[in-house]
Amino acid sequence: MILTVTLNPSIDVSYPLEHLKIDTVNRVKNVRKTAGGKGLNVSRVIHMLDHDLTATGFIGGYFGKWLENQLDRDGIAHDFLPIDAETRSSIAMLHDDGKQTEILEAGPTITPEDAQKFLDHFDKLLDQADLLTISGSMPQGLPEDYYTQMIAHAGAKNVKVLLDTSGATLKSALEAPVKPLLIKPNEEELAGLLNRKVDKTDYAALKQDLQDPIFDGVDWIVVSLGSAGAFVKHQDKFYHAAIPKIQVVNPVGSGDSTLAGLAMGIHDGKSDEDIMKTAMTTGMLNTMEAETGFINPAKFDTYFAKVTIENY
Ligand code: ADP
Repeated sequence: MILTVTLNPSIDVSYPLEHLKIDTVNRVKNVRKTAGGKGLNVSRVIHMLDHDLTATGFIGGYFGKWLENQLDRDGIAHDFLPIDAETRSSIAMLHDDGKQTEILEAGPTITPEDAQKFLDHFDKLLDQADLLTISGSMPQGLPEDYYTQMIAHAGAKNVKVLLDTSGATLKSALEAPVKPLLIKPNEEELAGLLNRKVDKTDYAALKQDLQDPIFDGVDWIVVSLGSAGAFVKHQDKFYHAAIPKIQVVNPVGSGDSTLAGLAMGIHDGKSDEDIMKTAMTTGMLNTMEAETGFINPAKFDTYFAKVTIENY
């Protein structure tokens, strides 16, 4: 099975408002609440394409119970470590013709005892895992190298890791002796890692950027480019994955859906071309739905056939 990690899951609350009024009451009729956090978006898409997975991370309180019930309802297997603090909520207000105002709780602070307990729990889950995805930022209280420690634990059990994070946690993972199999930095993250400007429209320059020694030992680097698809390095090969023009409904979560596609393709031992096509298809299908981290599997084959891969 694929093990997906969401250390700081969240109840994602969406409030559609015609107009956001400040310093007064806003009433909302159509509230939508979903099990969120980037890793749970990844999990939902993997589940929708009938692959075995287990979702893990820290969970707590009544909100944590609600979140687990949602996963049960959807048939998504999970095995979180319970902690003595409430799981967070994230509120997105959609208002005034396409504006989005978000209020994001930081979530619980993890104690050193729970950090250690999770690593023990994680070790047991790794025994049943073929592949691991780690997504998103970390909750408060954990050391910067916590993902790096998790990657070392996975490496000791020969489980490859797909890592989708940013900033100091990503940098720490790239500096460690045991590397992730795959990273998925965007333009801004690449610029941060390389300490220089990056132009995502210049593929020749991107090809140079991805050969920086900072990435040595990382097999796959996937730079997703929104409507322009993705620029990809696999070992010493470079590709541009091009996608058709589509009707975008909600692009939030498309990067997570792309990671789900990469995980399934790699897990299934597909060719480079099919791994990238799968990832572009899951990314596109997510943008075509209103819900975040959600796809319509019936459209998969049609859009898969429309992705083209060029060697670069
Ligand atoms: P992130 O959410 O990580 O910033 P992107 O916005 O690059 O990721 O989107 C990830 C993938 O989702 C893209 O590679 C593409 O397959 C699909 N996608 C995203 N935005 C669009 C769009 N406007 N049109 C078509 N596909 C898109």
